[in-house]
This record gives sequence, structure tokens and C-alpha cells, in this order.
Amino acid sequence: MTAPSAQSASSALSAPSARSYDVVVLGGGVAGCVLAARLSEDRSRSVCLVEAGQDYGPHGEGWPGGLLDARSLPRSDVWERHTEVYRLRARVIGGSSCVNGCWNTWGTHADQAEWERTGGAAWSAAALERHRKAAVQQMDMRPVPDGELSPFSRAALAAADELGFAHADMGTSGGPGHGTPLLNAVDGLRWNAAFAYLDPARSRPNLTVLGGASAHRLDVRGGRVHGVEVVRDGERVTLTADTYVVACGTYGSPALLMRSGIGPAGQLREAGVRPEVDLPGVGANLTDQPGVFVPLAPTDGLNAALAEQEARGELYGNRMLIRAASPYCGDGSWDLHILANAGPPLFGKLPPGQYEAGLSSYLMKPASRGRVRLRSADPAEPLDIDPGFFSDPEGRDLAAVRAGLGIVEDLAGSAALRPLVRQVEEHPSRLSDERIRARAGTYWHPVGTCAMGTEDDPGAVVDGAGRVHGVSNLRVADASVLPTVPAANTQLPVLAAAELLAEAVPRD
Ligand SMILES: Cc1cc2nc3c(=O)[nH]c(=O)nc-3n(C[C@H](O)[C@H](O)[C@H](O)COP(=O)(O)OP(=O)(O)OC[C@H]3O[C@@H](n4cnc5c(N)ncnc54)[C@H](O)[C@@H]3O)c2cc1C
Repeated sequence: MTAPSAQSASSALSAPSARSYDVVVLGGGVAGCVLAARLSEDRSRSVCLVEAGQDYGPHGEGWPGGLLDARSLPRSDVWERHTEVYRLRARVIGGSSCVNGCWNTWGTHADQAEWERTGGAAWSAAALERHRKAAVQQMDMRPVPDGELSPFSRAALAAADELGFAHADMGTSGGPGHGTPLLNAVDGLRWNAAFAYLDPARSRPNLTVLGGASAHRLDVRGGRVHGVEVVRDGERVTLTADTYVVACGTYGSPALLMRSGIGPAGQLREAGVRPEVDLPGVGANLTDQPGVFVPLAPTDGLNAALAEQEARGELYGNRMLIRAASPYCGDGSWDLHILANAGPPLFGKLPPGQYEAGLSSYLMKPASRGRVRLRSADPAEPLDIDPGFFSDPEGRDLAAVRAGLGIVEDLAGSAALRPLVRQVEEHPSRLSDERIRARAGTYWHPVGTCAMGTEDDPGAVVDGAGRVHGVSNLRVADASVLPTVPAANTQLPVLAAAELLAEAVPRD
């Protein structure tokens, strides 16, 4: 196939000759940007990237300041604006890398062994290392600069020392301990996946980027995709390709498959969709990391120090973490992240000069599973998302979070933190089960709703190369294919997975 000639994204849709591509990538988020960039490196391959949210263009051309400011989590450019916070997901080119904390950490060897079991040798720890390194380099990830550590973060690191945690390298599988993440932010600028991956590729004549273009459904017949219906500026067009790669994220990817008739047949019928391929795993296995925030009252001294840092434009609420082990975790590993926060509240407002401080216990390897379902075949209808927090029958997840709250309690009482904060709750680890459930929030790392696995696994949706079981020219390549969540923040693992899955798309 010949590459469509270079033209603006808007004219690309109205020119019939440009509607056919070698590869259409649906979803221009973290994974979608990696795929579009890597696949279009082969100049003989025409690639179209379709993103429902706005494409603000290359860096320096009209991006809203809020999306660029790495000091806070923006609430613009998201899908469901007025909803529970756990559903927050970006709707913009660059995806959730435009609204996230820019933290990058890596999981355990056991995480990668889980993926290798379902995806094959390409997912082994050794094989993934090349993709991890490529992502770190392309995203320009770097250690936390000293000036970004607030007095609270510094004291929390000292408190972790006091409790006997060793230093750990958070960008690798190292071990448990305390340390700082790798950041994809430079001097307060959130360096998102669109800047890092797409900008260097935008001028390629074989790459078309369509912003504000929502993929409504795939035309699936006889085990093949024959086109994708895309709506842009109210206009409905069909794009066709040899290969379709879905990268709409953990919530968006199963939703697009289900609207297209790929998913649990009974549920699809209930939602008014005619089933084409009965795949029970689509939308199942939603895995997210729950956590509980324990507030602490900043002393006047801490408030003053934070105000001074904010006046200099250098206040970052959170720049340290501890990898810790609950009693349910294997030796030498970790299943908890303990975070220390001090700064403007994530949500809501405080009077000038006053700040929120606290410590959180997040469970990184939950046993509980949730799910994503369609309410109807209408793409405009909000999804029915249940994260399934603490639904494991044995109650291990709740007990593990509680174990983390024990560490939070010890940190709050440490010599390093006592001069900066006053305890508001004396014994957070003694919170009732009901209070823990009610206070649990998300670390925003959902995965697993199009899980990879072998064809004989009834829960599997794709194979290790991202190919959808039962549909010959369809792939999924984003956070949704990870069958288990790593003991890490998910951006770097998703970038590495997308690097791997881009390589798996064959060249003609
Ligand atoms: C608030 C928040 C904070 C986070 N903080 C961190 C952090 O600090 N560190 C970290 O490692 N991870 C963090 N994450 C998680 C990380 O951002 C995700 O793991 C990662 O973005 C997943 O990449 P993805 O490509 O699967 O999905 P996304 O990046 O979400 O991209 C999916 C894209 O698909 C588009 N899309 C969806 N449906 C359609 C459709 N029908 N048609 C066209 N386009 C569509 C969306 O608009 C979106 O742009 C955070 C996430 C959130 C929401």
C-alpha cells in the first residue's frame, strides 16, 4: 500500500483516497503514541492515529497550561468529568500521561514472570529490559532533582531510614526500600507521551494524526475487521486498514470491542449489541490498586516552609515512596507503596498558606478483580465500571492495606516527622473494615480488561503479540492487555509493553 500524501489531519478525513491505511491505531494515549511513532518508522507503512480528545499539536503550540504543569493533576480533558474519582481518565492526545503524576517506577521479577507465563518469552524480565530502557530514554525520564524535595519528603525519607528501610532504585526491579521515582517532567513541565514519541514523528508523510475523532465501532464480520466507524466534528466516516490496533486504555479498549460485538455474548445482548465473537474476558479482570490516605496536621513551621517553596514555584507535593511488604508478600519483594504528601490538596481548596499533609498505604498486588461493562450500545453512554476493591473472598487485600497503615502509623510517630506534623488519627491501623472500605481511593493504575493469555484460557482476550483471539486482523496494545498489575506505577510498564507490542506488528 502506498502512503497517503502529507496533509493536515482535517483534510485527511475528507479525502477518500486517504481513508485506507496499512495500520489504524485507535486511541492516542500513552500506548497509542508509542505505537504510532514506532510503526511509522517504517516509511513504507501508512499509519493513522485516531484520538477522541483534542490534538493540541507539537509542544509549544497552544497546549493548555494546566496539562503542562507537573505540580498538579489537571481535571480538564478527561472523559467522565462529574463522577467518582476512580474513573478519572484522560481524553487528549498523549492520554493519561497529560494528566498524571509523572512518576515512573518498575515492578518485581515476579510481575514479569506472571506476564511471561501468559504472553510467552517476549515478556520475560530479560526481554522487557530492552523496552524499559527504550521508554526511559524516549520519555527523557530523570531522577528527582534535589530542589523538588519538600521538607516533608526529606523528613519522610529520613523516617523511612529510621524504620530500617534501605535505599532502593525505583526505576528497576531492585528490592523493597525507600527512594524517589524517575520523573518525566523537567522544571515543572509535564513531558507527556505525545511530546516524547509523536513530536519527532509528526512530519512523517506516512503518519496521519486525527484528533477529536472518536472510534465508535469496528465492523467485525467472519472473524475479520472490515473497517472502523469514526465520528469527528459530527461527521461519520469509515477508515479501513490491513491491521487495526486498539489502544483506548483499560476502560476504553474493552468498551470499543464490546460495542463491536466482541465480548461476553450474554452481556452484549443485554446491552443491545449483536455478538460476533464470544470472548468472556473482555471487560473482566479489572485490576486496580486501592489505597487509604491518612491525614496529618502540618505544624506552622511546615506550612511556612511549604509556602516559601510554593512562592518559588518549586512545591511538589509528593516526591518519595517506600516499597514495603505486607505479611502476604513473598520474601525480598514488596506489595505496598507508602507515599508521603504535603502541598495543596489534590481535590478541593485550603486557605492561602495552609496545606494538606498525609501518608498513604497503597496495595500494589490486589487479589480482587472488578469489571467494565456497557450500559448500552451508544458510545456516548457512560460505562458501568466497578473497580471491585476489597472483593477478594479471603479479605487479604483489606488486611494488606491495614498492614501498610501500621507502617504509616510508625512513620507518623518517627523522630524525623514528629517536628513537622501532628497526628490526627492515633491508630489508623485500627480503623474498622468499613472505614477502610469507605476511605479507599485509587492509585489510578487500572489494567487487565483485555488480558493476554493462550487461546485455551477462557479469560484471555489477546495473545502475547496483542492479537485478539478469533479476529485475524485486530490487536489490542495498551494497559488493558496486562493480565496482572505490576507492583509499580503503570506508565513505564505500559510504555515498555507498547514498545514490545509495536515490534510484534509484522512488517510486510
Ligand atoms: C490521574 C492519573 C494519575 C496517574 N498517575 C500516574 C503516575 O504518576 N505514574 C504512572 O506510572 N502512572 C500514572 N497513571 C497511570 C498511567 O497514566 C496509565 O497507566 C497509562 O496512561 C495507560 O496508558 P494507556 O495507553 O493504556 O491509556 P491512556 O493513556 O489513558 O490512553 C487511552 C487513550 O485512548 C483514547 N480513547 C479512548 N476511547 C477512545 C475512542 N473510542 N476513540 C478514540 N480514542 C479513544 C483516550 O482519549 C486516551 O487518550 C495515572 C493515571 C491517572 C488517570
